[in-house]
Amino acid sequence: MAEVSSSAVRMVILGRQGSGKGTQSLRLAETFGCVHVSTGDVLRAAVAAGTELGRQAQEIMDAGGLVGDDVMNGIVAERLAQPDIEAHGVLLDGFPRTADQADALERILTDLGRTLTVAVNLDVPVEEVKTRMMARGREDDTPEAIDRRLALYEEQTAPLLDWFGARGLLATVDGSGSEDEVFERLAEVVRTRLG
Ligand code: AMP
Repeated sequence: MAEVSSSAVRMVILGRQGSGKGTQSLRLAETFGCVHVSTGDVLRAAVAAGTELGRQAQEIMDAGGLVGDDVMNGIVAERLAQPDIEAHGVLLDGFPRTADQADALERILTDLGRTLTVAVNLDVPVEEVKTRMMARGREDDTPEAIDRRLALYEEQTAPLLDWFGARGLLATVDGSGSEDEVFERLAEVVRTRLG
């Protein structure tokens, strides 16, 4: 089994909300056989289940804010230690979103004896993601929440591009064009990284 885990992809996908990250992540995870972990999905499931985490997260999510780093880091640390990810690798979608989360991710992987394969930045201009988000009509996609999420992205998450770049892990992919075109670009980046 060591062979399987050593070739397993461990990747992060970064990009503005509305960049197509969620859709592309599902396809990438299927193609490369890794586990898709969306922290937004984890939180939405907690809200739907009415757990304590869900109760804490709901208001923050509705306002387009960010759930606290300690909570998020705990969720991801626990999930990454599961045997399915050890065996098949992971695609993290929506995490890390802050410098503190990026530091935590590095520590979590180091503790597991693992390293990241690649961090892909799915690049779509701000005006384009706004149009796409207004069209998808998700419950937390009010104009105010969209603006807040995009502002937080620029402020907290965009600096992570340099963080990953400094570690030689960053690959930027043009997110404009058809879903299939974008997917091919992403898959090519991952194949190249896997060697
Ligand atoms: P997403 O589906 O990734 O757009 O996430 C939906 C919402 O969940 C975000 O607007 C945040 O409120 C929250 N969320 C998801 N991932 C994180 C994270 N890594 N850190 C903080 N909040 C998060």
